Amino acid sequence: MNHETAVSSAKEIANRVLAPAAGQNDKEARFSTEAVEELGRAGLMSLILPAEANGAGLGPLSFAGVTAALAEADASVAMVYLMHSCAVATIAKARPSAAVAETLKEIASGRHLSTLAFSEAGSRSHFWAPVSRARRNAAGVHLTARKSFVTSAGYAQSYLVSSLAPEGKGPTDSTIYLVPAGAAGLSVAGPWDGLGLRANSSAPMTLADCAVPRTLQLTEDGAGFQAMLETVLPLFNLGSAAVALGLCRAAVAATAAHLKTARFEHLGQTLGEALPTLRALLAAMQIETDGLAARIDDLVDHLERPREATMLRVLETKAAAGEAAISVTSQAMRACGGAAFSKHTGIERLFRDAHSGAVMAPTVDVLRDFIAKAVLGIPLF
Ligand SMILES: Cc1cc2nc3c(=O)[nH]c(=O)nc-3n(C[C@H](O)[C@H](O)[C@H](O)COP(=O)(O)OP(=O)(O)OC[C@H]3O[C@@H](n4cnc5c(N)ncnc54)[C@H](O)[C@@H]3O)c2cc1C
Repeated sequence: MNHETAVSSAKEIANRVLAPAAGQNDKEARFSTEAVEELGRAGLMSLILPAEANGAGLGPLSFAGVTAALAEADASVAMVYLMHSCAVATIAKARPSAAVAETLKEIASGRHLSTLAFSEAGSRSHFWAPVSRARRNAAGVHLTARKSFVTSAGYAQSYLVSSLAPEGKGPTDSTIYLVPAGAAGLSVAGPWDGLGLRANSSAPMTLADCAVPRTLQLTEDGAGFQAMLETVLPLFNLGSAAVALGLCRAAVAATAAHLKTARFEHLGQTLGEALPTLRALLAAMQIETDGLAARIDDLVDHLERPREATMLRVLETKAAAGEAAISVTSQAMRACGGAAFSKHTGIERLFRDAHSGAVMAPTVDVLRDFIAKAVLGIPLF
């Protein structure tokens, strides 16, 4: 698989599997296992897994392209894909063990969906500071935690769980563990009935004295924070921006289609022909969407060739993308009027889904605070 075949395969699955079902899955808050299976069969679930581990070994450019293509059809599936890819990147860099090797084999075969269980009810969006603490035993640790949102909850084969290291001294001295779906004490703690991303099962989960063997400890004790910052954050922020881009592109396309087909019969014109105000809205949406695409290209370049400003770009891109998705889909709602409001165009799903980007951690507010601190030379944590 190369970049072109990966993106075209994602587009094909998006058109054939995701797009026709997205509206109904959103309505029923139904998780699309068939989408995950198709992505697995196409080799896209191991897109960023290194070739040595039998993955496609592709980088940020392809990851962003695939994620945006999926999001254009269904942002819920794209978010499932994004969380899985962040987990895959972390597992691929984990301390080696037979259990980790087995999980990597399953991921390479496309039959293993993973995800991140970082956010906790206690520390909320401050995912870098879990309040749960692992308890050490002879074979590994026991985990007890209340995870507030876990994308793919109940559907993933494994969960990357963060918890304070047993002997950790500070609030960020966390460790990341791989917890298999069947582990005793792990359970989904409620339904997922979100405003947006309704089809991705981002339900809360509970770990009640869950035994995790040493072989499934992915990072050294207390090195979870470093893995979150160095491995997860760049990929997550890039992927979130790609989801936002897919939503913006879908909103532009749906708005253009509506302005070309809905008519003022008494004037003998389409909405787009009749109203310069609607053309101006569409133009503003197009400008913001292409601006976001350029930002993503810039971040990809930074991730491929890291330099001094790279971390700043990682922070800026997700913040800008979250705002752009809300802005573009809000303008689409306005341009398409009552037709959008009464759910005739599919735009209101995009509008609801777009609001997730700003509240998913690191939230836009937190990113702004980090960015300003970085500019001012104040420590971030
Ligand atoms: C659809 C969806 C899927 C998710 N999937 C996952 C997942 O798979 N794994 C996972 O670990 N988590 C997941 N999350 C959780 C997510 O990452 C956040 O932790 C969660 O949305 C935070 O919500 P909260 O109410 O706890 O926020 P709070 O922390 O209570 O924040 C409330 C408000 O305060 C603002 N705020 C907080 N701190 C600061 C600050 N320092 N400066 C300025 N403003 C601040 C926030 O921006 C927000 O507007 C998901 C969330 C959603 C909505």
